[in-house]
Amino acid sequence: MNFDFTKASEACVKCGKCVPSCTIHKINSDEVTSPRGFLELVGAHQRGELELDKNAKDIFEKCFLCTTCVSICPTSLPTDLAIENIRFKIAEKFGIAWFKKVYFFLLRHRKVMDFSFSFISVFLPVLFKIDREAQSMKPRLSLPFVDKRVFPLLNRKSFLQKHKGYIKNNPDTKKIALFVGCFSNYHYTKTADSLLEILKALKINVFIPPKQHCCGAPAFFTGDFKTVDKLIKQNVEYFETFIDDIDAIIIPEATCAAMIKEDWGRFMQEQPQWSKRVAKITSKVFMASEWLYAKTNILEYLKSIHVENKKSVTYHDPCHARKVLKIFKEPRALLAENYNLIEMSDPNQCCGFGGVTIQSEKFELAKKAAKPKVEMIKQTKAKILSAECGACRMQLSNALDKDGAEVVFSHPLELIAKAIQENKKN
Ligand code: SF4
Ligand code: SF4
Repeated sequence: MNFDFTKASEACVKCGKCVPSCTIHKINSDEVTSPRGFLELVGAHQRGELELDKNAKDIFEKCFLCTTCVSICPTSLPTDLAIENIRFKIAEKFGIAWFKKVYFFLLRHRKVMDFSFSFISVFLPVLFKIDREAQSMKPRLSLPFVDKRVFPLLNRKSFLQKHKGYIKNNPDTKKIALFVGCFSNYHYTKTADSLLEILKALKINVFIPPKQHCCGAPAFFTGDFKTVDKLIKQNVEYFETFIDDIDAIIIPEATCAAMIKEDWGRFMQEQPQWSKRVAKITSKVFMASEWLYAKTNILEYLKSIHVENKKSVTYHDPCHARKVLKIFKEPRALLAENYNLIEMSDPNQCCGFGGVTIQSEKFELAKKAAKPKVEMIKQTKAKILSAECGACRMQLSNALDKDGAEVVFSHPLELIAKAIQENKKN
C-alpha cells in the first residue's frame, strides 16, 4: 500500500471535533494520542521531522483502530489507514514480536492452525476452567500476560472441521455461502452453528467453502502487510471458483465483514487487476444480520414465534458494524421480535478490544477502555449482552467477569436460534 501521509495530515484542519470521542484520548488525554495528534505525527514523519523510534512505535500502537474519529470527522479523514500504514513502516523497521509472527503464520496456514489448536485443546482442562455454555475459559493460575482473563474457548474441532460443503435445505438451486471468520470457526462455534440452524428454519441452501482462509484483519491492524496480501489473494482465488454459483457470502462477524468489504479494496488499490477481482467478490458480501433482514422472510418468521416472558437484552454496536458498515438497525430489528431490547446510554462507544497488540502488550489500555462500557451495560439491568462480533465478545466477557457483573454474552444469531428452538419445543 502506498499511503500519502502528507495529504492526510495537511487535510486535517485541527477542528478537534474527533478528539473528545477518541477511545485512546478518553483514557490517555494527551494530544499525541488523539486522531489530530496522530495525523500531525505521520505528517511530521513524512517531512523527515519525526524518526520512527521506540517512542513513536509506542504512541502509534496505542490507537484502538475503532474508526470513531473517521465517523465523526467532517471530511472522514482516514486516520485508521494512516495508523495501519505507519504500523507497517514500524514493523519493517523493528520486526514483529515472535508470538504475533507465530499467530500470523498460523493464520496463513489453516491446516497447521487446525492441528495446533486441536492438539492444544487436549491440555486445556489442566490449565483452564472451561465454561462450554459461555464458550469461554479462564486460567487456573494467574500468569504474566494472562492475568486470569476470560478467553474464548479453543475447541477440539473447528466449525469448518465439523461442517463443510453443501447443505440442502430447499429443492431450489439458489444458495448462499458462509464465510465463518476465525472467532466463530475456532472459538465461538455456537455462533456459526446458530446461523446454520436459522438458515435451515428459513429453508435456505448453504455452501460452506472448506478452503476459506482468515480475512487478514489481525495482520492488517498490526502492519504485517505481507500476510494481508497473501490472505486476500488466497481467498479471492478460491472464492472465484464458486462466486458465480451463489447469491451472497454472509459473515457472522463484524470485523471480518468490514475487512473484506472495505479494507480488501483499499489494500489492493495499487494492484488494479486484483482490485477488480476483489470488487466482484465483495459486491456479494454481507453481514449475516444485514442479509437475513434485507433478503429473507426472517422477520415474518420471528413474528410467528410466541415467546412468553421475553428476556431483556442490551445490544452493543461493534465499531466495524456500525461505524464502518452502517449496520445497526438490522440486528436490533431481528432481536426485538423475541426479546425485550433495552438500549444502553451509548451503544456506539468502542468496547476497547483494540487488536492483537492492545490485547497482549498493552492490555492495561483495554481494561481502562472497557470500564465505562461495563457501567452502561449494568445500568440497563439486562442480563444478556449481545453484539455481532467475536472480538467485542472476548473483550466485554472478560471485563464483565472482572467486574463481577452477572451478565452473559450471546451473539444475536445465537439468541435468534434459541428462540426458534424453544418455539419448536412448544
Ligand atoms: S481510531 Fe479510535 S483510538 Fe484511533 S485515533 Fe481514531 S478514535 Fe482514536
Ligand atoms: S475532525 Fe477531522 S479535521 Fe477535525 S481535528 Fe479531527 S481529523 Fe482533523
